[in-house]
Amino acid sequence: MHPAVALLAAASQPLCKLPPDKLAQAIALSHWRTGLYFGGTAWLLAVLWIVVRMGAGSAVAHLASRVSANPWFQGLIAIPLWLLILSAIEIPGTVLGHWVSLRFGLSIERWPNWWIDGLKSTAITLVLGAIALSILYALMRRSPRRWWMWFWLITVPLEVLVTWAAPLVIDPLFNHFTPLAQTDPALADQLERVAARGGLHIPPSRIFLMDASTRVTGANAYVTGLGASKRIVVWDTTVRIETPEEILFTYGHEQGHYVLHHIAKGIGYSAIVIFVFYWFAFCAMRWLVRRCGPRWGVSSVESWSSLGLLLLVGLTLNFLAQPIANAISRQIEHQADVYGEEVIHGLVPDPQATVVRSFCSDEVVWLDDPQPNPFVVFWTYSHPPTEERAAFAAHYDPWLPGHEPKYFSKQK
Ligand SMILES: [Zn+2]
Repeated sequence: MHPAVALLAAASQPLCKLPPDKLAQAIALSHWRTGLYFGGTAWLLAVLWIVVRMGAGSAVAHLASRVSANPWFQGLIAIPLWLLILSAIEIPGTVLGHWVSLRFGLSIERWPNWWIDGLKSTAITLVLGAIALSILYALMRRSPRRWWMWFWLITVPLEVLVTWAAPLVIDPLFNHFTPLAQTDPALADQLERVAARGGLHIPPSRIFLMDASTRVTGANAYVTGLGASKRIVVWDTTVRIETPEEILFTYGHEQGHYVLHHIAKGIGYSAIVIFVFYWFAFCAMRWLVRRCGPRWGVSSVESWSSLGLLLLVGLTLNFLAQPIANAISRQIEHQADVYGEEVIHGLVPDPQATVVRSFCSDEVVWLDDPQPNPFVVFWTYSHPPTEERAAFAAHYDPWLPGHEPKYFSKQK
């Protein structure tokens, strides 16, 4: 069944049938999430716009120029200052977001730990931001007309490097990861069967269990890293919540991402989107600095006084690009669903029922809205709505006469 048809089927009759109290919570939470996302973005862009209009750009650049005459050193003052201004503007929205997660029981992370996590994230953003923006402004100074293209050429290898390093350097700052074969050898054996059926040998050392239960109540798994750091991570909550058969599907979906090279493809897609994105940013910056620069204290695009304006332009474009990024992501997630359902064929008695149960269990623990607003899905959903995924799974049986599996041969 085509996902659009599945959506219609899901809209007419929800498969998962949440209990009334959970349904009320799911709908309330979905309103909160929508409000937090769109309201939070509007707040961030509006406040940043006011800060930029008040001439903060020239104030920060002036401060940096008093410390050093070298533009690289000036950047090491201006970049952290602006990134901290951004973080400060975002605090009310993120605090409210965590309060909502606690209230709905999705998070169990206490406030002190939550603040420590926030500080760590901010520190990582400062380091990565300082590297990327220092390079960007050096390119602007050297090539005022082509910087966007040069920076695009550098962005792709930077993205590859960060994707490769994230599971090795960044993720362990937040969670503990143990090889699944050590903590749960029986489950690791089961997952090996899924890997074998997919015709690949994912070394057991590449499958990790993450201590998600220290922060959240919901189940999940994901694929991360690239090349030598590529791995599958299963949250410990998944092992507690899902039945062994459902875990096989959850894992099979992740194996789909792994086998179908979705991380590398994602980087490829984003390279195309980013190319257009940077060109827009270049045009917008040139136009805004010419038009409003003198009033807002921004002397030129390539001076550090433009950094606040650049962040405003970048965040606005990023918000506008969300529907494109999410449409690509939903397509990739759908492929992984198809792979996951096909790979457990023959390993569980009834793949359709197993996958539907897995999604319905997700809907309960994550309080997913069974009938989300289509515009909200279009703009913000990185995965197809849970009901839509369940409806597809319920009807997808490529081993029926006249159908063909997409990723496997029918004999297997
Ligand atoms: Zn996925």
